[in-house]
Amino acid sequence: MLISLIIPAHNEATQIPHTLTKLQEVLDSNYEYEFIFIDDGSTDESWQILKACLEAEPRLKILKLSRNFGKEAALACGLDAISPDSQAAIILDCDLQFPPEYIKAMLEHWRAGYQIVAGRKSHRQKESWGAKIKAKFFYKIFDKLTGFELKNSSDFQLWDRAVIEAWYKLSERELFFRGFSQWLGFKRHDFEFTVADREHGQSSWNFFSLLKLSISAITSFSAKILLLIPLMAAVLWLFFLILGIQTLLHFFRGESATGFTTVILLQLMIGGATLLALSLLAVYIAKLFNEVKSRPRYIVSEFLRGDD
Ligand code: UDP
Ligand code: MG
Repeated sequence: MLISLIIPAHNEATQIPHTLTKLQEVLDSNYEYEFIFIDDGSTDESWQILKACLEAEPRLKILKLSRNFGKEAALACGLDAISPDSQAAIILDCDLQFPPEYIKAMLEHWRAGYQIVAGRKSHRQKESWGAKIKAKFFYKIFDKLTGFELKNSSDFQLWDRAVIEAWYKLSERELFFRGFSQWLGFKRHDFEFTVADREHGQSSWNFFSLLKLSISAITSFSAKILLLIPLMAAVLWLFFLILGIQTLLHFFRGESATGFTTVILLQLMIGGATLLALSLLAVYIAKLFNEVKSRPRYIVSEFLRGDD
């Protein structure tokens, strides 16, 4: 049985040989393997080093992206590149922060019938308090808006062929791997693992790339943010109503300056009408957003027939 290991690599020249050696050491001979490295637009020697590794390792497949597309795109490329007869794929970071020693247990769970075997970080890797707070904040929002619990989740996952086939049917361009791993469903086992320290190089993420990923993740799963407009409108209409009544009272008591009542009422009417129009648009755009993704309406995870 063939298992694909998908390893995205961005500027990992010093790390790649270690990672490959480690995999060769750790993986047992119960399965056949293919190692798929995706060079995500590295500016260092990563590609040359990958090419040099090809000679000694026939199970290696390497792909080079034309520029840095980001880890999510590299993962999508890796999933597209697995052999047609591959039965499962395992995602691994090139920096070995997802310890390959867990692969054996992941495969055992897969053989026991789980179609997604997903690693959750038992505690987060060494990072600043700021990064911890940002992650916490992001997961809270994502959870509230989409109903998927992403806390401590990671890309360290095994996907059965059936899950990969379902993934191929998704038609949108931005695919947030961890989010879809939950959205796709299937029989799932989560295990805890301890994130190893990065050996070589440094993390490729910065504040802006993380912010971009967070925005992309939330907006590809939820149109609820758009519905903040009608919510805001409702609050403002209440305020307009009170202000309108107060203005009229002043007018009838003869307490207001000439023309002032007209100006205030006009303002309130224009504001109210604009918000109403925006709210209607937001509701329709939210609907369009959900339709335009043309995601499959359902995913069949098992199909049995009497004559099988
Ligand atoms: N990576 C990638 N493209 C990018 C950024 C990162 O392919 O634009 C790869 C990187 O080489 C590594 C994995 O994604 O194999 C995780 O990245 P990193 O270690 O920088 O992230 P962190 O561990 O800090 O979350
Ligand atoms: Mg890392």
